[in-house]
Amino acid sequence: MALIVQKFGGTSVGSIERIRNVADKVIASKQQGHQVVVVVSAMSGETDRLLGLAHAISPNPDKRELDVLLSTGEQVTIALLSLALYEKNHSAISFTGGQVHIRTDSAHSKARILEIEATRVRHALEAGKVVVIAGFQGIDDGGNITTLGRGGSDTTAVAMAAALHADECLIYTDVDGVYTADPRIEPNARRLDRITYEEMLELASLGSKVLQIRSVEFARKYHVPLRVLSSFAEGPGTKIVDEEESMEDVVIAGIAHNRDEAKLTIMGVPDKPGIAYKILGPIADANIEVDMIVQNVGVDNTTDFTFTVHRNDFAKSMEILKQTSKVMGAREISGDKKIAKLSIVGVGMRSHAGIASKMFGALAAEGINIQMISTSEIKISVMIDEKYLELGVRTLHSAFNLETNG
Ligand code: ASP
Ligand code: MG
Repeated sequence: MALIVQKFGGTSVGSIERIRNVADKVIASKQQGHQVVVVVSAMSGETDRLLGLAHAISPNPDKRELDVLLSTGEQVTIALLSLALYEKNHSAISFTGGQVHIRTDSAHSKARILEIEATRVRHALEAGKVVVIAGFQGIDDGGNITTLGRGGSDTTAVAMAAALHADECLIYTDVDGVYTADPRIEPNARRLDRITYEEMLELASLGSKVLQIRSVEFARKYHVPLRVLSSFAEGPGTKIVDEEESMEDVVIAGIAHNRDEAKLTIMGVPDKPGIAYKILGPIADANIEVDMIVQNVGVDNTTDFTFTVHRNDFAKSMEILKQTSKVMGAREISGDKKIAKLSIVGVGMRSHAGIASKMFGALAAEGINIQMISTSEIKISVMIDEKYLELGVRTLHSAFNLETNG
């Protein structure tokens, strides 16, 4: 007998019919003899609807009250799923995050899980019940309801699996696994059987919305056996594993892309200590996250400095840079919000030389100009003109033989 955690996202519980389907999946696991803990999201669109209500009352809603409101979405789903299980003659019990002691810090709307005291869950499992837990929420030391950030139900599931030492944590979603590239752009994209925690983390931070980043961090830290699979189609999904279990000859796991980028350049600034701080300090103070940064080699004691931000922050960043430019006596500033980021990710880069030149060569052969480059141990990202993004994805996918490798 195994103990498994099954997590179902918003689309998977988006209607009564779908909740009944989820109940069937849970029952199937139960009938294989497993103990089952289910973690659910709010029905699709519900969290956004609740956010809309709050903002209709208050442009800047109090964070504690907002969490009280947002956590209700998941509470609806746990009750409905438990009722669906009852209708199918299976005994279940639903719990909110607080009821099963998902203890978090007090950072409302982005709380971190500190500890889970899972005795109550264990007792219910031992009594033969399916345990249905509300994702995305916890409780702080003052007894206040907290939420874990958008997509946080993934983290609830992984944390629950860690606390219970579950045999597997299954994340059911609307895609049937993790792909070598976005199949809407590259029709030859292939579902990966396995990917490492680290590769998944890079993909999540590069904008793949399959899993919340924190859930992957959590899974890596506690070695939670994790699998992403479809709640609508049969199939093995993608397993997320430690590096030792990954397949050795695979160099690149996948291609990620992100259109939400914008680039700002300030030219002719004095080349002396403190300029990066002077340029980026005010941007950080405005709570704007900077992604890539490039500073040119100085000529005649001046230099150029380029950085990228989320496209939504472009206008505000330009405003700030204008001010900085005046203060510093820069020659000129410019911006471009039609850029995109293209990345290759793979732990195999550690042991293979020539990956970067292969990437750059393939892009050059298609006439795609690289504007900026950044690398980490297992990732190479380039900024390119947005209009070449699709071509770039397909070019790299075939350059690294991703349609067949594996
Ligand atoms: N309901 C929350 C959201 O929409 C949490 C989740 O679905 O994971 O972000
Ligand atoms: Mg999600």
